[in-house]
Amino acid sequence: MLVPRVAEGVHLITHAYVNCYLIEDDDGVTLVDAGLPSMWPMLRELLETLNRTPRDIRAIVLTHGHFDHVGFALRAHREWGTPVLVHREDARLAAHPYRYRPQRSRFLYPFTHPGSLPKLGRMAAAGALGVRGIAETRPLGPGSALPVPGSPTVIHTPGHTDGHCILHLPERDALLTGDALVTLDPYTGHSGAQIVASAATKSTRQALASLDAIAATGARILLPGHGDPWVRGSERAVAEAIRIGAH
Ligand SMILES: [Zn+2]
Ligand SMILES: [Zn+2]
Repeated sequence: MLVPRVAEGVHLITHAYVNCYLIEDDDGVTLVDAGLPSMWPMLRELLETLNRTPRDIRAIVLTHGHFDHVGFALRAHREWGTPVLVHREDARLAAHPYRYRPQRSRFLYPFTHPGSLPKLGRMAAAGALGVRGIAETRPLGPGSALPVPGSPTVIHTPGHTDGHCILHLPERDALLTGDALVTLDPYTGHSGAQIVASAATKSTRQALASLDAIAATGARILLPGHGDPWVRGSERAVAEAIRIGAH
């Protein structure tokens, strides 16, 4: 297996339009988001490729509590004892990852955005409809140098969900943006830097306001929850997301 390195010491696991990331340093690894259930063997394979064991995963940090980011968190917690961190305002969502109320019904979306159909179908085939939530989480608070490998700075970016957080790695010039800014929206099938469609976003107004925090990092590499890495800097990504706007 080729090591899918997307920034210094950051590796991508991607499947069915869903991304999660492993951040490495000398103390071990941090997993950012837990994807979909079918990505479990891909995580194991990547750990082996990196000469790591599951014990090296010091923590799973969830950018937010949606099902496509919580996928195998409970399994890792039960089988390996990995602590799982999520912002307090998303703890309930992580425990019940389907119980959320977006602005618009996501079930209407395939009809207005036919491009989304194959993507949602692949997510379903990858276990998107069978995710078990995790209630045993620890609170993730905003601040610098979270004491996990990579020492990310946690920034609260509400909008997509109330407790959504992004993780900045200033020394690696990288920002893990979760669903605060994506480069592919699986709900519409559209690519480009953008906020996620109102079908899956609690408040698009607030999500657009939170883009300021992304721009302010000045990070060159943006690593989203859906879509390819963006390497043209946070300001240009945010300008594009504002131009595309709410949808
Ligand atoms: Zn989401
Ligand atoms: Zn997502």
